[in-house]
Amino acid sequence: MSRFWSRVVRDLTPYVPGEQPKLAKLIKLNTNENPFPPSPKVLAAIQAELDGDGARLRLYPDPNADILKAAIARRLAVTTAEVFLGNGSDEVLAHIFMALLKHEQPILFPDITYSFYPVYCGLYGVDYRSVPLADDFSINPADYVQPNGGIIFPNPNAPTGRLLPLAAVEQILQANPDSVVVVDEAYVDFGGDSAISLVDRYDNLLVVHTLSKSRSLAGLRVGFAVGHPALIEALERVKNSFNSYPLDRLAIVGAVAALDDTEHFERTRRAVMATRETLTTALTEQGFEVLPSAANFIFARHPQHDAAQLALALRERSIIVRHFKLPRIDQFLRITVGTDAECQALSEALQQITA
Ligand code: PMP
Repeated sequence: MSRFWSRVVRDLTPYVPGEQPKLAKLIKLNTNENPFPPSPKVLAAIQAELDGDGARLRLYPDPNADILKAAIARRLAVTTAEVFLGNGSDEVLAHIFMALLKHEQPILFPDITYSFYPVYCGLYGVDYRSVPLADDFSINPADYVQPNGGIIFPNPNAPTGRLLPLAAVEQILQANPDSVVVVDEAYVDFGGDSAISLVDRYDNLLVVHTLSKSRSLAGLRVGFAVGHPALIEALERVKNSFNSYPLDRLAIVGAVAALDDTEHFERTRRAVMATRETLTTALTEQGFEVLPSAANFIFARHPQHDAAQLALALRERSIIVRHFKLPRIDQFLRITVGTDAECQALSEALQQITA
């Protein structure tokens, strides 16, 4: 705290990202990164952009990243006017809170959800009301039939991994024709149907995606939103009042290459899903309760072992997972699906610890 801090900064409670440890040789299952490297075509595209001496880096990138919008439009069968790009989906979400969720009424999101949402509310002065998940940690669409200034939820939800079927998403959209409904699909490629198929029918729907998870590009920082052109225009207005060049040259070409490599995408996401099922079975056999997951992580608790202590015991064995000291979920561990070998090591470590 200093006398130079603005009122806004004094009142902020910033988001705490998962740890990025400096130690090598850790089994890192704490921030839902993809265990596989990105498509080799991403590296080739980045190398080509560097073009020998890197002279192109002298020049600003295309502020609209048109080639990336075109690649997304091609891949998802939408128009480029329905696509907004950002420096990771976190930046896309930030602009959404300011541009489309700040109204008279409080916005709604689940009580257990991506912990960045209340942080954006604090930054932009957006009121919110959290809506409790059901006892089985599912979202009940009927709970979203109440006055609101907007709705946002991840699907699959984080950190639970639970998927809301598309028909239920549609119920929420239909019940709220005068609110923007934001579906944060960071993890949808690991087992869900995307609400992008509904964008043409609902002018209040905005779907957010990232290349951080299913495209193995968390380090490149690329996210996007798909929705009605009027919603996209609102986001462009904020972006062009904030940072005209959110995506750098390497990110733009790398993202295009990743989106165009369908074979790599399909193979790696299927491998992650298969490993998730193997891990779920192994932990269930050890007595863990594992929530059904459609994401690249699982959310699990053991009836006899305290989650914080399990996380600590895993760390002593050089395995890191995420534990949230929050109401209702403080007995759960969120475990990212790693490679088969990493998940095997995790499973053996838990077996020893809980024996
Ligand atoms: N939404 C959800 C639900 C997430 O878990 C994450 C990852 N922390 C993000 C968005 C942001 O991901 P990124 O900024 O890497 O696109």
